Amino acid sequence: MKRLRDDRDMPAIETLLCHLGRTPAEHAGMVNVPVYRGSTILAETLEDWEKQNKDYPSYGRFGSPLSRALEAAICKLEGGYRSILFPSGQSACTHALLGCLKAGDRVLISDGVYTPVRSFADEVLAKLQIEVQYFSPTEPSDLSAKMNAKTRAVYLESPSSFTFEVLDVPALAAIAHRANAHVIMDNTWATPLYFRPFEHGVDISIHAATKYIVGHSDAFLGVATANEAAWPLIESSAHQFGELAAPDDIYLALRALRSLAVRMERHWENGLKLAQSLQVHPAVNKVLHPALPNDPGHGLWKRDFSGASGLFGIVLKPISRRQLSVLFDSLRLFGIGLSWGGYDSLALLVDPPKRTEPSLALPGPLIRIHAGLERVGDLISDLHQALQAAYDAGTGGAVERREEELIN
Ligand SMILES: *Cc1c(COP(=O)(O)O)cnc(C)c1O
Repeated sequence: MKRLRDDRDMPAIETLLCHLGRTPAEHAGMVNVPVYRGSTILAETLEDWEKQNKDYPSYGRFGSPLSRALEAAICKLEGGYRSILFPSGQSACTHALLGCLKAGDRVLISDGVYTPVRSFADEVLAKLQIEVQYFSPTEPSDLSAKMNAKTRAVYLESPSSFTFEVLDVPALAAIAHRANAHVIMDNTWATPLYFRPFEHGVDISIHAATKYIVGHSDAFLGVATANEAAWPLIESSAHQFGELAAPDDIYLALRALRSLAVRMERHWENGLKLAQSLQVHPAVNKVLHPALPNDPGHGLWKRDFSGASGLFGIVLKPISRRQLSVLFDSLRLFGIGLSWGGYDSLALLVDPPKRTEPSLALPGPLIRIHAGLERVGDLISDLHQALQAAYDAGTGGAVERREEELIN
């Protein structure tokens, strides 16, 4: 098979996804890079052994042809300098932070980040004498006001977990760089297809590959990609901590990468159509989806993103706990569960996210929806019949108004 040799031949991203990281001639003609298991990697001669650390890994913990293939493919898609795999998305997030920070430093974190990252910052970074502060995801001036000489990293996630505000990444990155702070961004929602982090000023971009890259809810994997300046920080952090992704999980991720563009188109379309159908539903207060033209983040999403994933939020009008149970228990196609990015549709009741900045007022229960790959008409019917069942379970068929029972 002919290999893609340089950037002048760079085909469209859908085509790249089918060809990146594949070297059949090096693997007995196999279409997919096989699973490599191994700790010891043998050399034939002393001379080979001495070259080993330079040309290829000298120990299984430092990589294999399989891990290198996936890292190279993701790096190309993200447009970074190098990528490195981690055993989970959370591990990629925490090691990116640890790589950029030391005792006495300060980190500024967007107030809308993934909750476990927030817990890590508050509990572990604080214990390491790293000062943690949060800034408003929608106000770059808040970041400006909080930057100081000790701020070494700014951590972003766009859109925000659970509340889906879109961040002005180029503006935030410019503020961070003026103070010589590194910009770390969790890019999981958009996947490498729909947001190009390094074109928007990011230094380290993270994916919980567990989500869309793996795509089938059956493996854990994280990946961090850095530009040339930030690469030594993340590489050293990963190796010193002994972080290592499992070979079977890497295989599943590289295999699923081939269908990422096809899957994402369907997730995007299904998510948006569901969001549109919910926007006009009488039980729904608002829909949090940046691809909807009336969403506050729509302008930034249109400017910086080239697509949307299938994950969004809805805020219901206040209903009773019993009605919420009826809603979830009536769902036939949507599973109730954590994570997202698989082919399966999910609905999750979420607690109002913890915020430091003036808290966002949610007028009713918040539900996170993941639109899977099913036929969208079936998904719309399922959610609407469950909402109707919940509505019918209210007093006299009306939305219940007894204050003590309302869930906010
Ligand atoms: C799920 C998730 C993570 C963590 O990924 P795991 O593989 O579950 O550890 C990180 N960031 C975001 C935005 C996520 O949704």
